[in-house]
Amino acid sequence: MAPILGCVADDFTGATDLANNLVRGGMRTVQLIGVPAADTEVPDVDAIVVALKSRTNPAAEAVEMSVAALDWLKAAGCQRFLFKYCSTFDSTDQGNIGPVADALLDRLGSDFTIACPAFPETGRTIFKGHLFVGDQLLSDTHMRHHPLTPMTDSNLVAVLGRQTTRKVGLIQHRDIQGGVDAIRTRTEALKGEGCSYAVLDAVDDAQLHTAGEALADLDLITGGSGIAIGLPEAYRRRGLLAHAAGAADVPEIAGRAAVVAGSCSAVTLGQIAEWDKTHPSFNVDPLKLADGEDVVGEALTFARKRIAEEPVLIYASAPPETVKAIQDRLGRAEAGELLEGAMARIAKALVDQDGVRRLVVAGGETSGAVVSALGVTGLHIGAQIDPGVPGTVTLGTGEPIALALKSGNFGAIDFFEKALKEMA
Ligand code: ADP
Repeated sequence: MAPILGCVADDFTGATDLANNLVRGGMRTVQLIGVPAADTEVPDVDAIVVALKSRTNPAAEAVEMSVAALDWLKAAGCQRFLFKYCSTFDSTDQGNIGPVADALLDRLGSDFTIACPAFPETGRTIFKGHLFVGDQLLSDTHMRHHPLTPMTDSNLVAVLGRQTTRKVGLIQHRDIQGGVDAIRTRTEALKGEGCSYAVLDAVDDAQLHTAGEALADLDLITGGSGIAIGLPEAYRRRGLLAHAAGAADVPEIAGRAAVVAGSCSAVTLGQIAEWDKTHPSFNVDPLKLADGEDVVGEALTFARKRIAEEPVLIYASAPPETVKAIQDRLGRAEAGELLEGAMARIAKALVDQDGVRRLVVAGGETSGAVVSALGVTGLHIGAQIDPGVPGTVTLGTGEPIALALKSGNFGAIDFFEKALKEMA
């Protein structure tokens, strides 16, 4: 059966977050990396999420990529579509949320959609069109000073209004409290007023469920990953989701296991210290690497002595003062790239030469480098290991690999061990 929902996400980790929520709601989901090639094959699923890297590109580029992704999803048989952006509505007056949403509406021949970045579980709520992060208005948080997308206005009706020539309205808290019919009545009224968009208030998951039921038949929905919370149930009620369980079932993968870490976040450093109590690890020294020493070779020799018996961790991660000293010596970007390249080569060799089939990667950028070195074109999304991080099985790698990609601050202290166990 063709998938129900086709999603276009403007960045990689956001795509995984969305896919994770869809699986939790009972939809079998794959995430594809970049606009897929025409002949890309996907397993039988209910939702496909195309992960782009378009959040901060020039608007015209973001539009082009997003429309290409939409066209692919349409060709794959998807019936409804979702444009996923950040739950802090990361954008500027030039875009990219407005221009991309305009283009997707046009492509679908549709005249109305909603904008709802609310994700109450992570503290993102919308009240009277204003986005809150925790107890603060968005514009009072650190997002005000974001280097690429400074958010100085919390009124999403105004923010989106500056990104599109179309009219933006509001579906208020009280409409949502009024239930499914009240939301639909409000939607029709806004369309009658010539609105193409409605910012949707939502302060808790119950409201997202109500909104999901009311709006599940729109051709296009736009929002953060929280908007996916109410959709699976609404599709199920419409008879579109036939199966009841097993959305998180992915193929079982046996084989050797390893962890590769490039994140220097406090959470990752804690996870490394925890791992060190019971398992072997190897520290990749950036200065030796920069001096041309064969640190990759040393790491692989270390791994090869042990990996038949137990999983190994290879890490570049270091505490802030060390990272600063290294960045002062090598340059911030140079150090980052050097280490990402080394970690990616190590991961690739472990998979190709040492039979590693279960791999945990810590760090957003590090994950990007590893995924591209392994030639991964997509991820079949499995059960959540810790909040926001699902176990996955790769597509496009010949033999499938069980992969857990964790950005810096995610995961409990024992995440590495737990992830490898749960992916077995
Ligand atoms: P996170 O998800 O925590 O932000 P990332 O992988 O996205 O993790 O970013 C961490 C960056 O820091 C990467 O570019 C990585 O190569 C770099 N890095 C890792 N270890 C060190 C180190 N010891 N010194 C300097 N940079 C490092």
